[in-house]
Amino acid sequence: MLVSLALGSVPAQAFSFVLVYHRVGVSSGMTLGVAAGSLKDQVVRLKNSGHTFEVASKAQNCNETCVVITFDDGYRDVYEEAFPVLKELGVPATFFVITEKVGTEGFVTWEELKEMQQAGWEIDSHTANHARLIDLPPYALQAELEKSQQAIRDHLGTEAPCVAYPFGVHDARVRNLTAEHYDCGFGMWMGLNGDTTDPMALHRPFISPWDNSDFLNFKAHSGIDHTLLIGLLPLADWQLGVPTDTRDSGLNPFPYTLLGDMEYDLDLSWGQRQHALKYRKNDFSAQVYLERGRHSYNELSVAYHLEPISLGVGYGNGGVILGASANLLNYGEAYGYYQPMTAQYGFGTELIPLPYLRVKSSYGNKDGFAAGMEYALPLVQEEGRPYRLNLDYDQQKWLAGGSAYFGSFKLKLSSDFQTTVKLKFSALW
Ligand SMILES: [Zn+2]
Repeated sequence: MLVSLALGSVPAQAFSFVLVYHRVGVSSGMTLGVAAGSLKDQVVRLKNSGHTFEVASKAQNCNETCVVITFDDGYRDVYEEAFPVLKELGVPATFFVITEKVGTEGFVTWEELKEMQQAGWEIDSHTANHARLIDLPPYALQAELEKSQQAIRDHLGTEAPCVAYPFGVHDARVRNLTAEHYDCGFGMWMGLNGDTTDPMALHRPFISPWDNSDFLNFKAHSGIDHTLLIGLLPLADWQLGVPTDTRDSGLNPFPYTLLGDMEYDLDLSWGQRQHALKYRKNDFSAQVYLERGRHSYNELSVAYHLEPISLGVGYGNGGVILGASANLLNYGEAYGYYQPMTAQYGFGTELIPLPYLRVKSSYGNKDGFAAGMEYALPLVQEEGRPYRLNLDYDQQKWLAGGSAYFGSFKLKLSSDFQTTVKLKFSALW
């Protein structure tokens, strides 16, 4: 009785679970298509286990454990297949539309969106052109966000409260500028949404092939999805014992401005591999960096963000590392660090001066000068220009190559066309 009184007197924290769908009744890859029957089964399963349903803008203030059903992109099959099923079940949903696609072949029309809105759906923005926002300088980023907000206002007469970032990727610049136009922003990283979740980086776990089983209820209560396995990869290469080398000078130990919610990079070259796992939670960021092979090095660093500066402290094989990074007017960031025991220091910048152009440079007293650039070829615009050219200069060697995005995964291959070939895998959310 005491226990129930105590529990009764403290309102339980409400957590919402947000599901992200794309197409319905059309098969288009493991996470992008679901049959109308499966959608119905999943919603009924959640309903039967006591969940209630809300729209995206209420994701942080549901009064009990609730579920938000969302659809991305604006495909017409959502209107044809999902809308009638959810109407029959009395469940509202949220549609994140690419506003420039509305009314074009295969996509929903403004009249259909109006009808869905009148039936309780929330119509939100998925940007104007499905651009990869993390590759845009502030003025182009602002245009993507404003243009889609304006289109929804013109055609539906209402404000879109939320935006879903294309490919689920965002960084601090994207979140800052989104907050000027919207109340909420959705990524695609796992987790539930509560009072303390960053409203500009709300979580939406991936749909998985196991969602037609009891796994869905586990996911609705924990927010955990299969992407957790990628975050655990560095653990597989963790080693005790004494690593033998100093840190890589070009590594920013205190990233924040260009950071989403999580990033994992695996760099492979002959006889050497490097893992970097970066994680952000509100104003904190943390990074684990491991080198294995001919050189071996471990480092852990954390940073606290005070706009526009982040202050950081880390610990690596050479002892304590101190440093800071700064947001450069939302064009990118600059950083510097110093390791007192080894007297190793370095500084660098990473900038996005023009749409789809990223340039990096760094100097360290151990490795000297390094620089790199990446340019996204103007191909397949709606896929966020996935094909890129890369040019890097490091350790007095030029490396050229290419990279390609597959959703939020990226593969890069580069070489000096003599002795070095490098392969890099990145996952970011
Ligand atoms: Zn999309």
